Order: sequence, then structure tokens, then C-alpha cells
Amino acid sequence: MVEIEETSGNPDPVSRRALPRIPVGQLLRAALDLLFPPLCLKCRARVRHAHSLCAACWSEIAFLDGAVCVKCGTPFDIDPGGETVCGPCHAQPHAFAQARALMRYDDASKGLIIAFKHDRLHHTPAFGAWLERTGQGLLAETDLIVPVPLHRWRLWKRRYNQAAILGARLSLLSGVACDPLVLRRKRPTPSQGAMPTAKARRRNVLGAFAVPPEAKPRIKDRRILLLDDVFTTGATLNACARALKRAGAAEVNVLTLARVVKPA
Ligand SMILES: [Zn+2]
Ligand SMILES: [Zn+2]
Repeated sequence: MVEIEETSGNPDPVSRRALPRIPVGQLLRAALDLLFPPLCLKCRARVRHAHSLCAACWSEIAFLDGAVCVKCGTPFDIDPGGETVCGPCHAQPHAFAQARALMRYDDASKGLIIAFKHDRLHHTPAFGAWLERTGQGLLAETDLIVPVPLHRWRLWKRRYNQAAILGARLSLLSGVACDPLVLRRKRPTPSQGAMPTAKARRRNVLGAFAVPPEAKPRIKDRRILLLDDVFTTGATLNACARALKRAGAAEVNVLTLARVVKPA
């Protein structure tokens, strides 16, 4: 038997001296861990700390923490040194200044991200903490976090916008404000995943985003961090960045959980 700290009553002085003092919080945590042991976010194996991956799943995730293109964040196989820009960024500049992603979008990470999009909201604390670490440099130069919006029909169907959930969490952790109402999706667009080419993806979201007039003062001359779950070709993120800049934003950077990396 262990004793918790108490401030009233008339305890037996002998047993009080003999027993160790354990803070109430630790005791509750131990009891909760017994009832609901922390499980790996991906494979559900038992782990030591809640909101984490087991060692095996962690080692499968390709975190993008090596050398990347200074603009779009695509990883380089060999570190070219300095602030190098990749070929595609030279050929077709983006509307955003810089993009960074936490991990590669591949077979190891796909399940985690798709589950979060549909019902696994308990991934939020881990994703938030990882994003804060990956986005440290960008967050230091951000006035406002803006999640990529869903069209209201899709929001109604899905019940929540995963990017807005991440934005709220990142705001809590970083202290940078988040405004999910700054950007609006004017029309429902077919899923970008259904588009056969990069050109079709660009056309699909052309003019799909806008900043409503009442939101313009909130972004004028401000540095925006655009947030989404996956960077695929960048078509959606470029369309959002373009709308934000047209409405007066000083600069737009991008942070995503994952990014598709095309084989070189
Ligand atoms: Zn695991
Ligand atoms: Zn690039």
C-alpha cells in the first residue's frame, strides 16, 4: 500500500513515516497505464510512453532530417552542401518560399496518416510534437499558422479537418496563433489522388481557394505557415499560397506531416 499526500485528517504518525510519499499525479498515471497500457501508434505493441511508436515502427519511418532542397524540402541522396535548390524548383518556382515535411510518404507512413485523416485523432499529440520539431526554423519566422481547408461538404462528411486539428495542436505547442478560417475552399474539387498527372492536379485546384474579404486584415503583411498532412506535387499548397499572397500575406511557408518523394 502506498500513501498519497493529504492535508487534512488525523493519520497514524507511525505508518506515515514508514511509507514513501508519491505525488497524486504519478499514482494516477500508473493506475491509468495499468488499465490502458500505452500502445504503439502503428502496430499497437506495448510501449513505454503514450503517443509514441515502438522501436521497430520508428526505425521503418523515413524521417526527412537530412539534406533537403532549401525551397521544397525534397531530400537529396547525397548532401550537396550549402543552400542547394533542386532541379524541379529551378524549372518551376513555387508560390511558397520554403516547404518542410516530417517524413517520407511511403508504405511505412501511409497507414498512420490515412488513419489520422479518418478517425485516429489520438495521433494528434505525437504528430503535433514531431511537427513542432521539424518546423522549428519556420515557426520562428511565422506570425500565423493556416491549415489547408476542406470544402464544407467534405468537412460535413468527414466531421473534422485533419489539417485544422494539427494546426490547433501546433499552435498550443509553439505559441504561434492559428486561424483555420483565413482560407476558404470555394468549390468542391475531386480528390487530387484521382488526378492522373501533375498538370491535372494543378488544373483541378486552379482558383479553388480564396481569402474572404473579412479575413484579409488578419493576414496582411504577415508571415504565414501553411499546414497540411501530405505534400504530393505541391499543387494544392501552391494554389493556397497564391491565394494568401494575392490577399496581402508577406510570405508563405509550408509544413506537412509527409511528402511524396519521386525516385531520382
Ligand atoms: Zn509499432
Ligand atoms: Zn526543390
